Amino acid sequence: MINLFNKFKGFIIDLDGVIYLDKKIIPHSKKFIEYLIKAEKKYIFLTNDSTLSPNEYSKILSEQGIPCSLNQIMTPITNLIEMIGNKKIKNKDIMVFSSSKLKDYLKSLEINIEENMDKFKKIKTIIVSGNLEFNYDDLMYASLCVQNGAKLLATSTDNTYPRRIGNVPATGSIIAAIQKTHPVHVINLGKPAKTIFALAKKKLNLKKQEILTVGDNLNTDILGSNLARIKSCLVLTGKTNLATAKKSKIKPDYILNNLKI
Ligand SMILES: [Mg+2]
Repeated sequence: MINLFNKFKGFIIDLDGVIYLDKKIIPHSKKFIEYLIKAEKKYIFLTNDSTLSPNEYSKILSEQGIPCSLNQIMTPITNLIEMIGNKKIKNKDIMVFSSSKLKDYLKSLEINIEENMDKFKKIKTIIVSGNLEFNYDDLMYASLCVQNGAKLLATSTDNTYPRRIGNVPATGSIIAAIQKTHPVHVINLGKPAKTIFALAKKKLNLKKQEILTVGDNLNTDILGSNLARIKSCLVLTGKTNLATAKKSKIKPDYILNNLKI
């Protein structure tokens, strides 16, 4: 697929279902990155999975032989930091429903998190991120916060997350449960939000037409890329098979079985 990849100078690459599954490298993905490096292409990894910090993603990839600096990892938290920087979100009265790792990471970024759930009435913003520790109390207090006027931010609106056992509930499914208790608008920090693709483009410092998005998810990677008018390539190594891709109204510019060079 060198002919295709050679057309572009920069790549926005998804992780789950593209580079790895359950953090195990998918065949051909390592050689694909080696090709990008050799051909002096720019690349960043853009994942909707915020359970780990950029530091941890960089470590997982580097340990499996995929070179990647901290600056090459983007998660929905990158978007959150930008929103706080732009004062679109105030850095106070924020409650976070996420993995403890993500909470620790947010604290390390000096984001002011309210940890006392009883303060739900004064909360202005909540951030929801699906995780294996998520429980009924989280769902209950997240719902109470939005009923009392808090803005709802989600690290993604993906309904499912691909694992080897199948597609399991992700942040979007939790958001749906919150919205069942109280109708509230959700601000998506992750893909397919235009804001995160704009940030990715800014990081690559390239023109739209010089960039290719590579992803396995039609609703996030491909839709987001299409909305941002960046060319998109669906790979069939994760969430989507060819039959689903053909049926979908969301059309990638290219479809590949895998990342074989
Ligand atoms: Mg994916």
